[in-house]
Amino acid sequence: MSAASSPEPVSIPASERVFSLILAEGPISRVAIARRTGLSQAAVTKLAKPLLAAGYLEETADRERTGPGAGRPASPLQIRAEREFFVGIKLTEYHLIGVLADLRADVRARLTRDLSRRDPAGTVTQLAAMVDWLRRAEPRFHERSSSLGVAVSGDVDRRRGLVGYSPFLDWHDVPLAAMIGEATGMTVTIENDVKALTVGEQWYGAGAGVADFAVVTLGQGIGSGLVLGNRLHSGAYGVAGELGHTPVGGDEPPCRCGGRGCVEAIASSEVITAEVRRATGSTSLGFPNAVRLAESDDPVVKPIFDRAAAAVGRAIATLANLTGPERIVVAADNRDLAGYRGFHDEVRRSYTQQAFGSAGHSDLVFVHRPLDAWARAAAVIALQARLAR
Ligand SMILES: [Zn+2]
Repeated sequence: MSAASSPEPVSIPASERVFSLILAEGPISRVAIARRTGLSQAAVTKLAKPLLAAGYLEETADRERTGPGAGRPASPLQIRAEREFFVGIKLTEYHLIGVLADLRADVRARLTRDLSRRDPAGTVTQLAAMVDWLRRAEPRFHERSSSLGVAVSGDVDRRRGLVGYSPFLDWHDVPLAAMIGEATGMTVTIENDVKALTVGEQWYGAGAGVADFAVVTLGQGIGSGLVLGNRLHSGAYGVAGELGHTPVGGDEPPCRCGGRGCVEAIASSEVITAEVRRATGSTSLGFPNAVRLAESDDPVVKPIFDRAAAAVGRAIATLANLTGPERIVVAADNRDLAGYRGFHDEVRRSYTQQAFGSAGHSDLVFVHRPLDAWARAAAVIALQARLAR
């Protein structure tokens, strides 16, 4: 495997902030980068230098003045999208979702496959085949890609490349990064899927330019990621932001984690679907149809969604009371839920009611993040790891 020439090591996260700002807003002048990041112009120039040398950045043809009386004018910076490509895979209980993205994090190839075997070795074999397919989609993809990011739910130790515990896959202490590295020949970074999505939001999504924000994910599981002072909070043991297991109820049936009253045991799409089926007697009703019934104010279904929204709102209030983020991005993997205003209003009402004082001022933003957005975020994790090397 031919790796691209390594840039000189640069300090993280300042170089990451510079790169991600150029990713989100480039072409952008060094002056504007300095203004936006609070770094000095000299620092920006120094941070950009190895990225320019490695060919990750280039100067546009335009000239900018760096200020009155400043020396020779410099050109705005932009990312060289095709300099390198990155593979990102989101691993779920049932599927592998893969993308190949360029240096601007634009998706250039994608593939989804059912997971036929769920044990670690069988999963790695299928994942390696997917990576191979994505890289072979075009010759330059294969030539210019060596970094792979994999997003997995559960307790993931990125530094050690270890999945400590993944409840959906029922894995314990799986050295996943090393196994995938051996099977693909690539440099592999694994990350908790919600943390990966949070980094994606920070780099090019609803958290771009916000120093303190949280992401709350709604789907089969409920999770959260936290960026404080521009840095992803990982927790001393790799677990942080397990919002789904925040107790917001009382006498509900036990959660899969063994706890009781967890928000995930009240408001996951699985639990909502099961409740709607029981209440309506339609045993094959799917989640999107359940959302549509609630949106049309169905007297049986709407209260089930209201109750779920209230639980999510209480969990978000806990998160805001503890960490006080400027913005909270609520990301639903289901398009209908992401667009269901009545649900958002109920989450907001419950959150505002329970938040303490100014913790109720966080800006709640609802977005749709389908599974390939998670795979794209996994590719950004690979890119982030590449920049840090
Ligand atoms: Zn739980």
